[in-house]
Amino acid sequence: MIKFTATTASDGQRSHQPDSPLSLTANNQQNDSLTPIMQLAENLYAHLWQGQDNNCNTYLISNCLDQGKHLVIDPGHMKTQGSDEPALEMLLKGIQGDGLDPAAIGMIVLTHCHPDHIEAAGFFQSRLKTRIAIHRAEAELYEQMGGIADLILDEGDLILGYENPVTLNIFHSPGHSPGHITIYWAAAKTLIAGDLIFYRSTGRTDLPGGSLPQMKESIKRLSELNIEWLLCGHAYGNPGVIEGKEEVQDNFHFLAQQLMF
Ligand SMILES: [Zn+2]
Repeated sequence: MIKFTATTASDGQRSHQPDSPLSLTANNQQNDSLTPIMQLAENLYAHLWQGQDNNCNTYLISNCLDQGKHLVIDPGHMKTQGSDEPALEMLLKGIQGDGLDPAAIGMIVLTHCHPDHIEAAGFFQSRLKTRIAIHRAEAELYEQMGGIADLILDEGDLILGYENPVTLNIFHSPGHSPGHITIYWAAAKTLIAGDLIFYRSTGRTDLPGGSLPQMKESIKRLSELNIEWLLCGHAYGNPGVIEGKEEVQDNFHFLAQQLMF
């Protein structure tokens, strides 16, 4: 099991070591309200974090890998820091609630290497042989934090599956962190934005490797895409899902004015 003990790039919070291995069986005693299930489109699911402590939103594209396996973007914390909310347990339960088998998660793509996005990745990798993908410019930090990447991403197309291939466009979108990526699924007009773009705000640029000029450039490029669903890494100002082309464009215009680009 991967252990996360480093604190290098957290959002100002300390990463912690995972506890004993978690069961894949859902625990019905847990609070159901923590992970509302949201199916956005065919094969696209959002698990929007609503706990008290910080944790990221997780997104899932189902049946996009061979043998009907699924892709997860940013699995989040094992347990939250502060109240020890069972973040991973809730995610697993949410996935089961979608009618999907967590054991069929074949790949995890990490938007960037902050503990609130990556911590649970090692659980899937060690227990389920899930492959982990991260951008080249984030891979060294991921290793320093105890992670092992199976696939190094560069900007370009990531083509998943053979039978019904799904093409994701990986954009290198630095600003919040040096190797931050955003993931554009053109066929679903969906952008998974990690911690780059939120509703009426952006990710922090004051963390190690952050850069405001890079963030402006990253956001500007993405504003030209045809987006119906903009899926944010956190629920700041709204649940984390910006829906509809008009809303998405409004949000880009707002950010352009705020950031002056
Ligand atoms: Zn972050």
